[in-house]
Amino acid sequence: MNRLAGRLARLIQSQGPLSVAQFMMLALHDPADGYYATRDPFGRTGDFITAPEISQMFGELIGLWLVQCWRDQGSQAPARLVELGPGRGTLMADALRAAKLAPDFLSAIEVVLVEASPTLRAIQAEALKDCGAPVRWLNGLDASLAGRPLFLVANEFFDALPVRQYVKTGRGWCERMVTTDDEGNLAFALAPVPAAGLQIPESRGEATEGAVYEISPAATAHAEEIAGLLAAQGGAALIVDYGYDGEGFGDTLQAVRKHKYAPVLEAPGQADLSAHVDFRALAEAAERGGAKAHGPLAQGTLLERLGLKKRAAALARAHPQDETVFAAAVGRLAAPGQMGRLFQALAILPERAGPPPGF
Ligand code: SAH
Repeated sequence: MNRLAGRLARLIQSQGPLSVAQFMMLALHDPADGYYATRDPFGRTGDFITAPEISQMFGELIGLWLVQCWRDQGSQAPARLVELGPGRGTLMADALRAAKLAPDFLSAIEVVLVEASPTLRAIQAEALKDCGAPVRWLNGLDASLAGRPLFLVANEFFDALPVRQYVKTGRGWCERMVTTDDEGNLAFALAPVPAAGLQIPESRGEATEGAVYEISPAATAHAEEIAGLLAAQGGAALIVDYGYDGEGFGDTLQAVRKHKYAPVLEAPGQADLSAHVDFRALAEAAERGGAKAHGPLAQGTLLERLGLKKRAAALARAHPQDETVFAAAVGRLAAPGQMGRLFQALAILPERAGPPPGF
């Protein structure tokens, strides 16, 4: 048992079981031992690789998408460029470099990074030190985002938000909890009493005994809040993640350590925890918040429509020695068997705006 597992076991013994969401929050964000709080998890030597770390083209195309949305809504100044969960700051650095083609955009924006991890904030500050726009950090969406149009991107942020899980049993839907077993180790167990007032959307389909219903109240709350800001102030949001469109049941919570799956409870704080994103739930939350959702669309389709292949060809002309690197990146980002289909993109815009580029 690692140190965080020991602390969680003592917490459970004194205060009772944790929901899966509470466990996930502590494993990822505990200030002393949490996963994101204590490390830089990205890249070949880390635990996983994300799209912006695969190629600069990902952030560049998204940067140009954001600039185009800004132009389509009248190039208002001042405006805000916001990223949720910027990781190493790579996507934002690439987006801002591409946005140098639009100096009026660069001079209109303030960059706001929503980041919980002090370790990653320091890496982001370094990545953006010469980015050409003022940068500040927030712990979460807050009132300081009011009053200006908001251009927002979130790549692999929503999958890190805590999920709650409910399992269908003979006595009803019971919440899945994290407790301790006879040896004092962390273990899953079901709440003895069924959850009251749980409403399962029809899109999920028929549930048989043992089915797992997973929801992320934090994810839908974020989508609704973003939509409210967009409806009031204008702007656009692009959410990219792996996920599904509201259908089916299943436990999608996973732990990844050094590029391999690991048991979820084995080493809290030392493995990345994430869950598939329910894009239909996000789209519905966005509409409740007063905005319009577009998509979800496969990542590969969106990137190709935004000019991925043309960008790769231009880079290959400028750096002929790296031509195969760019071609490989196109495949990893867009091919259906790689990230192209599993990853989806959802756009949220004010109702009065037309569909954004690519959708
Ligand atoms: N977007 C980056 C990183 C994805 S990993 C990329 O694509 O490479 C998830 C990121 O979200 C990390 O930066 C993590 O620290 C941050 N994060 C996760 N949960 C968060 C929360 N609840 N509040 C703020 N930041 C969070």
